[in-house]
Amino acid sequence: MINIDFLVTGCSTRCRHCYVNGGPGPIMPVEDVLLCIERLDALASYLPKTISFTLDHEPLGHPQIEQIIRAASRTVHIENYHHGMTSGMGLMGREDRRKVVRAYFDCGYRDFGITIHGNEAHHDEITRRKGSYAAAVKAGEFFKSEGAELSVSLMLNRFFAEDSHSISNLLKQLQPNYIYFAIPIYTPHRNMRDFEPYRASLEILKSLHSRLEEWGQDAAAIIRQAERNTTAAVADCLAGGLDIPSLFAEKQDELYLSLHQDCMLYVGNSGVETHCLGDIRSLDLRSTAEVITALPGNRDYGAFYNTAVLPPVKDLISALRDLPPHTLFGDFPSVIYRGLSELNVPLLKLQT
Ligand code: SF4
Repeated sequence: MINIDFLVTGCSTRCRHCYVNGGPGPIMPVEDVLLCIERLDALASYLPKTISFTLDHEPLGHPQIEQIIRAASRTVHIENYHHGMTSGMGLMGREDRRKVVRAYFDCGYRDFGITIHGNEAHHDEITRRKGSYAAAVKAGEFFKSEGAELSVSLMLNRFFAEDSHSISNLLKQLQPNYIYFAIPIYTPHRNMRDFEPYRASLEILKSLHSRLEEWGQDAAAIIRQAERNTTAAVADCLAGGLDIPSLFAEKQDELYLSLHQDCMLYVGNSGVETHCLGDIRSLDLRSTAEVITALPGNRDYGAFYNTAVLPPVKDLISALRDLPPHTLFGDFPSVIYRGLSELNVPLLKLQT
């Protein structure tokens, strides 16, 4: 499976947890967007694998998003993967929002989502944009009033215990079709360290047990899984003999690429690009498809580390033990990447 992070705009927020390197950025001219869609479709015709692209960051901030959505839905060899998530600011700032949502509906996309980071003040602090909570709530109400399916993602941080009442009230107000609960992962992006002071602990998660049930989650399962993903739990696993090089060497079947606003195509998810393949407008598509076909998967962020210079495991254990023991991460590899980020070793093989 191949997915291409297709960045037609930047974002109106600068979320601290953003693992796709979002933030303010240029807008790709619509002529380039339409040409890139054509070129991606042609590239996909040479590839034997399932391939999709995702209009990422905040595509609803693109002035010609309606035209883009319609073109993106007409491809033959590549699929537009629609996640429908929005900060709300791009959509609620536009006068043609009803027309834009209609264009999504016409193309078969009916699901939209917002992410909530706590009460209004804390949400705006995490997104680093005043007014972003109000915009997200308004966007949620707007989607519902237009007949869309609305999801609300609750992204855990250390404010959740004190903000749980406000979150419950918002969910009652919005009545979303789906509620997701996410514990942020850690990835080797340059911006991700900014979220670390906001990360929740296992104790905070446990204190939310009854709220999690109220929010439609399986609290016991979430807590059971979380207990394995703390700094202390992973340090214990490493001390018990867990082998990092073999974890990093596991075969991966998913390959992520990104296409930037300047039409340059990169290997690697947005923010963790390992090398540049060239300008999609002028690349020889047949030979580029051969290069892509030969690439190993990189879904797991382990693919972005130079395994030849991994530090001794005792150094990693000691780095993890220096962090607060019950700090909670979204998955097990995240904790390892967090520990590695504490060590002064040139491990990442990212393109600068
Ligand atoms: S999390 Fe989403 S909205 Fe926030 S900066 Fe990243 S891409 Fe943009």
